[in-house]
Amino acid sequence: MRKKIVTGNWKMNTNTDEGKNLIKSISDGLEMVYMPPELEVIVAPPYPYLPIIRQEIPTKLAHALKLSAQDCHVNLKGAFTGDVSAPMLKDIGCDYVILGHSERRKYSGETSKYIKPKVERVLENNMKVIYCCGETLGERKGGKLFEIIKDQIVEGLFYLSPEAFSDIVIAYEPVWAIGTGVTATPAQAEEMHLFLRQLLAEQYGDVIANDTSILYGGSVKPANAKELFSQANVDGGLVGGASLKGEAFVDIIKAIV
Ligand code: PEP
Repeated sequence: MRKKIVTGNWKMNTNTDEGKNLIKSISDGLEMVYMPPELEVIVAPPYPYLPIIRQEIPTKLAHALKLSAQDCHVNLKGAFTGDVSAPMLKDIGCDYVILGHSERRKYSGETSKYIKPKVERVLENNMKVIYCCGETLGERKGGKLFEIIKDQIVEGLFYLSPEAFSDIVIAYEPVWAIGTGVTATPAQAEEMHLFLRQLLAEQYGDVIANDTSILYGGSVKPANAKELFSQANVDGGLVGGASLKGEAFVDIIKAIV
């Protein structure tokens, strides 16, 4: 059975105290929630706080509450001032790395071709990838929606072997819905998630397609999470703004159990 996953992307927010308070509030909340074995909760703090947050995750939740970085460099080591490599992230206890987030595509000019070796570095270092894809409003309105998403997936992921693909989670995040308060309708999300699953089936077969978790991201909140997560091909969420409030994030998690 494929995993249900709710990931909190803290982006460039929190300091030490805020991060500790947030993970405590999430952990306390999760202790009151029934966590089925197929559910995984992931938090993605900024780089400096990863080891601190790792330490704050209670041992009894460690099987279900995982740690993700928000990006990594394409190279393993060397003269790349200011960057962080996949082996470093593994070394400090990361389980996942988010790659291809639309904010990195937009502000750092990352393309799927550029992200491709990052995917390889993360997998080689025995972590999992949350690979983001999504279209702009202009691309959607211009009727290029499916073409754009297909290109991002094919270029960023489809060179992987079937074995490697089992460590990939896909996050469909329409750019127009990220941080805007505008959420894709459940029908819009399901339409794209079904398209993605069909793409995976064509490339890797039905078993891998059915086993791959596909998350929706874009203004997920407690008020809309249940309807989004109830769609047949929506296996959870990648949550930005609402993941910075422990109570709201736990309410989103409750919407999937
Ligand atoms: C995100 O950061 O991936 C995201 C979806 O943000 P928000 O929930 O704030 O739209």
